[in-house]
Amino acid sequence: MFTPLTGRTVLVTGGTKGIGKGIAGVFARAGADVVVVGRDRERGEAAAGELGAVYLAADVSRAEDCERMAAETVERFGGLDVLCANAGVFPDTKLEDMTEADIDAIFATNVKGTMLSVKACLPALERSGHGRVVLTSSITGPVTGYPGWSHYGATKAAQLGFLRTAAIELAAKGITINAVMPGNIETEGLDELGPEYRQKMESSIPQRKLGTVEDIGFAALFLATDEAGYITGQTIVVDGGQVLPESMMALEAQ
Ligand code: NAP
Repeated sequence: MFTPLTGRTVLVTGGTKGIGKGIAGVFARAGADVVVVGRDRERGEAAAGELGAVYLAADVSRAEDCERMAAETVERFGGLDVLCANAGVFPDTKLEDMTEADIDAIFATNVKGTMLSVKACLPALERSGHGRVVLTSSITGPVTGYPGWSHYGATKAAQLGFLRTAAIELAAKGITINAVMPGNIETEGLDELGPEYRQKMESSIPQRKLGTVEDIGFAALFLATDEAGYITGQTIVVDGGQVLPESMMALEAQ
């Protein structure tokens, strides 16, 4: 039904771990040529080997790294069709303890890194004739809040502010830009928070389970298809219904 993505080139920032690795795996299994980007070379090479992808080392908070990752992708595969700007960090700090350096660091990767990645890939995406950008935002910030994540929530909401104006500018270049907004997704990092955290999170989600990295990958894959070409500047929440209950009573009455 959907036009196959075989032969399309997909670059996934933060594709060496967690959600990005899940997105990269879904695109690789759909037949795309996949490039994964991250800072840690050992992890990146291991992930690329596992996925049948190519690893490029880059820090998305640095403009020259973003230019290089775009140039090396084009050199390697002859073009670029899809950018999944997914790299993100989520340290937690209460506002009263937050330093200026904490704020600068999270904005550098999550907001500046998203914008620099998209900007660097624009010429190649335009040349492809069907360029697609998929951002990984979050429900935290645009829809919900969580103590310790005021700076993180601000960055995830900022990505959506960027998206809406970028969508208008990029429409003239034949490029769409949309975002997935994950809820609580099962990643390596989540396991470290322990079984009690996991059980409490599951009980606050109407589907009573966490999402998988593939759940996010399939939403990104849809937005990257030719058939999604008339969708731009939009968001898809992928959260098992987590944002829906208006109180704990709504879940208890389920
Ligand atoms: P993760 O497991 O910690 O993976 C983050 C990835 O981003 C790694 O590949 C990391 O590699 C890379 N990265 C971080 N900073 C980077 C930088 N400056 N330059 C290049 N690569 C960088 O995180 P995750 O949970 O999968 O989160 C991925 C995205 O999903 C983030 O944008 C996050 O906000 C969003 N999200 C996650 C959840 C969730 O439940 N996990 C929910 C909502 C939204 P290196 O460290 O080697 O650079």
